[in-house]
Amino acid sequence: MSIFTKIIKGEIPCYKVAEDKDYFAFLDINPLAKGHTLVIPKRETDYIFDLHDNELAGLMIFAKKIAKAIEKVVTCKRIGIAVIGLEVPHAHIHLIPIDKVQDIDFSRPKLRFTESEFRETAEAIMKELGNQ
Ligand code: 5GP
Repeated sequence: MSIFTKIIKGEIPCYKVAEDKDYFAFLDINPLAKGHTLVIPKRETDYIFDLHDNELAGLMIFAKKIAKAIEKVVTCKRIGIAVIGLEVPHAHIHLIPIDKVQDIDFSRPKLRFTESEFRETAEAIMKELGNQ
């Protein structure tokens, strides 16, 4: 079972942002930016391009909603998207607020936030999703 499946099941805590029947979104614990969010399918599949067509399309549509909400919470030019997948074998899309290309450089040092900062960010994004 992947670490992300454990997160979906609530066996490992996370700062949840959104969930529906098939997809789940939560803050990346080692973020490149405030609001850096991971969007995943609940069905555990390692490689994003092994998802069924409808699952992949649904994942991107789910990500779009989350990105629009992050934009309202974090000041940025765009929400950049990235798929790396070298660390966790459970397909995921990174949603990262960016102002310049360097903001989505994964070799940069990650940011640190307190528990309450993470919680506030997740709650603010969740609230925006409720307003959509
Ligand atoms: P990738 O597989 O795309 O190379 O990297 C996996 C991403 O998942 C990393 O950005 C890492 O910080 C994040 N990550 C790994 N384990 C956890 C975890 O237990 N909780 C959360 N919230 N994020 C995680």
